[in-house]
Amino acid sequence: MDLYACDLCGYYYDPEYGDEENHIQRGTPFDKLPPDWVCPECDASKDEFYKLDDELDTFDAYDLSLEEYLD
Ligand SMILES: [Zn+2]
Repeated sequence: MDLYACDLCGYYYDPEYGDEENHIQRGTPFDKLPPDWVCPECDASKDEFYKLDDELDTFDAYDLSLEEYLD
């Protein structure tokens, strides 16, 4: 499932873990969060969140090249 990050504080919403603080059950995708859900860290609205997909791919690629570098 897709990770979303808060643009204001850098908090990650991971559907796999949900959001205990706001009583969001594990396995709840970001688009199934209640409309009034806010960032548990800084109270930003869902509008402030962006999807992390593309960046994660970048991170993976970065990790791989880093491992190669370390070898
Ligand atoms: Zn936030």
